[in-house]
Amino acid sequence: MDGFSTFAGLECSRTGERVGGERLVNLSPAGAPLLAVYDVGRAAATMRRDAMAGRPPTMWRYHEMLPAPAPDCIVSLGEGMTPLLPVPRLGQRLGLTRLAIKDEGGNPTGSFKARGLSAAVTMARLLGAESLAMPSAGNAGGALAAYAARAGLAAHIFIPADAPLSNRAEALLAGAEVTLVRGFLDDCGVVAGQRARQAGWFDVSTFKEPYRVEGKKTMAYELVEQMGGEVPDVIVYPTGGGTGLVGMWRAFGEMQALGWIGERRPRLISVQAEGCAPLVRAFAAGAAESLPWSQPTTRVGGLRAPRVLADFLCLQAIRASGGTAIAVPDEAMFAAQREAGRAEGIGLCPEGGACVAALRLLVERGEVGRDERIVVFNTASAAKYVEMLATEAPVIDPPPR
Ligand SMILES: *Cc1c(COP(=O)(O)O)cnc(C)c1O
Repeated sequence: MDGFSTFAGLECSRTGERVGGERLVNLSPAGAPLLAVYDVGRAAATMRRDAMAGRPPTMWRYHEMLPAPAPDCIVSLGEGMTPLLPVPRLGQRLGLTRLAIKDEGGNPTGSFKARGLSAAVTMARLLGAESLAMPSAGNAGGALAAYAARAGLAAHIFIPADAPLSNRAEALLAGAEVTLVRGFLDDCGVVAGQRARQAGWFDVSTFKEPYRVEGKKTMAYELVEQMGGEVPDVIVYPTGGGTGLVGMWRAFGEMQALGWIGERRPRLISVQAEGCAPLVRAFAAGAAESLPWSQPTTRVGGLRAPRVLADFLCLQAIRASGGTAIAVPDEAMFAAQREAGRAEGIGLCPEGGACVAALRLLVERGEVGRDERIVVFNTASAAKYVEMLATEAPVIDPPPR
């Protein structure tokens, strides 16, 4: 379909070398992530910001700047267009007047991983893949399972043995092959990579295929649309593999080229766990790349990514935005989850709690201003982490009738 997508191929994120987008690929010849490029001039002709509201309420409304060539090849479960909720009561507790939460918990499979996997599975099927494999801390595996089932493809998922039960259950429910690995995400990655090579499965690991980041970038398009063409001053984002951070940063550049926004960018605040903070350590050291975190101790899966393939892209984006990287302890995440639940009724995942906890530290240090427009990303629903939540309550018998 002419003009539906203006996807123009892939480029190496290190060398800029162009690679065609017409076959299944993982990393670039230089061993780096591949990123999609578009004919933005052509996209701008049909993609006016004020015309978006008339389109279907999924992330695919931004189809000119997404890779799927036609509507009928899209693998969708209704992902995206999540609410941007003002949270005045929580804001007041933190000393902030214009705080909002982009609540990704309402996505299919309860996390923003749905966006990335909708795009990746769409492209993998289009380009001929039949079986997909992935190491995951949990949520990505659950989303892959669902989208693969939706596409009629097989999914093979390798998750740590201590991943949340919800992740195992959702993946099994969608008919995926689930293997529990006694180890961390990078151990799962080694196993998944080996098995995929042996069996000829397509590896959809974070940044080892080019399209998950394309799905995740739509969070920034939605923010600008929901804010009536404004950009926030600050985005607080829980960072594991960095897909959302890198994707949103590129999306702001794209939106400027489309004429949606000007030069101003939000400061990107990357939040990690004290027990696994490779990007925070590299940011503080002024390094261009991170070193793997040897023994992650955080219990929070989305932040337990000891090895960050796209580290240089994350660090570039954080620095170019004037933002920062900050770590918080698990206990502060859980406390912030409870605080947000009580103040606003929003079920934050611990990763979302990490952002609220980090924001409190930044307010104390004077690094964010009281009246700045701040958006915190809640990347999954609290319900996916039920084993980590308080469930005690009195049990009584009903009165005799
Ligand atoms: C995967 C995940 C993250 C980290 O996302 P990236 O974009 O890969 O950095 C954060 N929160 C949750 C709930 C996740 O599942």
